[in-house]
Amino acid sequence: MRVVLVEPALAEAQSVAGLLKARHHDVTVFADGQAALAYLKNHSDIGALITSDEPLSMSGIELCWEARLVATTQRPIYVMMMSAADDDGKLSEALDSGADDVLRKPAVAEELYARLRAAERFASMQRELVRLATTDSLTGMYNRRAFFENAAELCSRAQSGYALSAIMIDIDHFKKINDAHGHDVGDDAICAVAREAMLERAIIGRLGGEEFAMLLDRALPEALALAERLRLQMEAIQIGVEGAPVKLTCSFGVSQWETGHTVDRLLKRADMALYEAKLNGRNRVMAAGDPPLTYSEAGRVVRSGRRTA
Ligand code: GH3
Ligand code: MG
Ligand code: MG
Repeated sequence: MRVVLVEPALAEAQSVAGLLKARHHDVTVFADGQAALAYLKNHSDIGALITSDEPLSMSGIELCWEARLVATTQRPIYVMMMSAADDDGKLSEALDSGADDVLRKPAVAEELYARLRAAERFASMQRELVRLATTDSLTGMYNRRAFFENAAELCSRAQSGYALSAIMIDIDHFKKINDAHGHDVGDDAICAVAREAMLERAIIGRLGGEEFAMLLDRALPEALALAERLRLQMEAIQIGVEGAPVKLTCSFGVSQWETGHTVDRLLKRADMALYEAKLNGRNRVMAAGDPPLTYSEAGRVVRSGRRTA
């Protein structure tokens, strides 16, 4: 684990750092609390902070508090404060100020190791909870909530000039697959579509039953071409059912981010194009616009330089 150790007393710092290194922890030592805090903010792979109660420039208790503010659900930091063996008041204050655990000084090897094992258990449990909260259990892709969290980040990148397009995908006549072959085969169909889409370099989430959304750091022509390629791949899917394999098709709506747009607007426009694809006979790609255009119409318009979506 990567550990930041904050201890202004050289002998104690060397002793604790030595114990940590002996167990192959990667330790960075600071005497100054502010410097340690800045380092913590800039290095998201640090799993634990162990601070003395009296580093330079700020108190250990303040540092525990500040470190707690740096930690997030996605980025847990196990915070520990070391204090003299007889200072119970300070140790309980540290726990109230955001420390996860406390250590008595001078540090005892076995106690330090046991507390770091607890930190590792805590971090892996947190990672698992985050995974469960962000993953769609059927397909393994982002669930709706995680997709929108990532989408917000991509949209703010787009504000600074990066290309961004959205593709909405919906399996055609999916109810018929469920009705004719059962829910399990329906689930297999959802997974097969998800597998194809997840091979692409994109942020992708399952927004509902048989509906997916993708965000790509590409402009409209490339997004349309990708959607068309996926459409053909989906057509080729065969779900293993004894006797006759089940086939399916998907409809696609594609939109491009424009200055001032929100994630919701981008996806809404892709959704409206998807709706048009359904109205126009399904198993097709449509580009958002007024009016929405088919894949080949959009290609012609893009080539002629007129703006579409
Ligand atoms: P369209 O071509 O217009 O999209 O028709 P459709 O039948 O695909 O559309 P609709 O959205 O009405 O049907 C979706 C169905 O998907 C309804 C619901 O019972 C089913 N469904 C939703 N979630 C799941 C799931 O996790 N597994 C399975 N097997 N079916 C699901
Ligand atoms: Mg459908
Ligand atoms: Mg649907």
